[in-house]
Amino acid sequence: MAEVLVLVDHVDGEIKKTTYELLTAAKALGSPSAVVVGGAGAADKLADGLTEHGADKIYAAETDSTDFLAPEVAVLESLIGSAAGVLISASANGKEVAGRLAVRTGSGLLSDVVGVTGDGVQHSIFGGAYTAEAKANTEHPVITVRPGAIDIEASAGAGARESVEVPAASGRQATVTGREPIQGGSRPELTEATVIVSGGRGVGSAEDFTVVEGLADSLGAAVGASRAAVDSGYYPPQFQVGQTGKSVSPQLYIALGISGAIQHRAGMQTSKTIVAVNKDEEAPIFEVADFGIVGDLFKVAPQLQDEVTKRK
Ligand code: FAD
Repeated sequence: MAEVLVLVDHVDGEIKKTTYELLTAAKALGSPSAVVVGGAGAADKLADGLTEHGADKIYAAETDSTDFLAPEVAVLESLIGSAAGVLISASANGKEVAGRLAVRTGSGLLSDVVGVTGDGVQHSIFGGAYTAEAKANTEHPVITVRPGAIDIEASAGAGARESVEVPAASGRQATVTGREPIQGGSRPELTEATVIVSGGRGVGSAEDFTVVEGLADSLGAAVGASRAAVDSGYYPPQFQVGQTGKSVSPQLYIALGISGAIQHRAGMQTSKTIVAVNKDEEAPIFEVADFGIVGDLFKVAPQLQDEVTKRK
């Protein structure tokens, strides 16, 4: 069976959930091979989780390079020759690696896909109104997969280990000089979260976003925001959901005071269950909501929070 490379997304010795989604998706194309690029011993720490989720092979590429994503691109480039494809998370870094890799290898690039089959991939388009199928006309396509779009299926792989050299990067022009966690504290990362509570212009001010955060914290959720909320200065831009923000597909997406413009829906419509709270019963968000509450978010959200807290 053809090998399918999966770039492992990991931070501080922890595998990100999106990696398991990629391993699940890879099985539709062939035999998943996990590629771990990291410091000494990184692959050892992650091997059990990768094997349990279907990795037949685990490539360990050890490096202490600070060249921004260059080792990832170089290692994948060195391995791509025999692969049926490469799967990478459609995160900010993943998109960067995928673009560079596709250019360097002349591979077709299928971006932000929500499904992978033996015949091609699926994209969610026009705000989720249609699913388009696509196929690359080149060998070993590079595919970025939208976080949360694939349901993880844990089935063990062979987990064979292999060390790979990290090819020397030539003429890199960017170096990582430090990393700082962004605001969000202990909350899950937006694209990793199982539950997201998002606020829109209806929240009315930065101070009142504590209502969104309160409900989110009771659910262990990430906080998101519409572009109108971001543009109004209520919440920082890295939390924007939508066409020009992040694409998310959590199990549960709660929209508070968000009208449901197509550009917002484009980033959240593939969520498994959508709950909308809006005081306007005609708001378009109700067209995509599984559960809709017509009401004032400042009354509804605290009540929801109380109920969730009581049931803990
Ligand atoms: P509004 O449309 O103003 O809706 C606010 C809602 O809150 C209303 O429905 C109102 O009834 C409700 N409300 C008010 N008060 C309360 C209350 N107390 N309780 C309950 N409900 C209340 N938007 C994004 O979100 N993400 C994107 O990535 C994005 N990209 C864009 C890209 C382009 C090229 C363009 C042109 C636009 C983009 N937009 C994006 C903007 C988008 O078109 C909308 O303007 C935006 O999503 C509206 O945000 P909103 O729903 O928060 O605000």
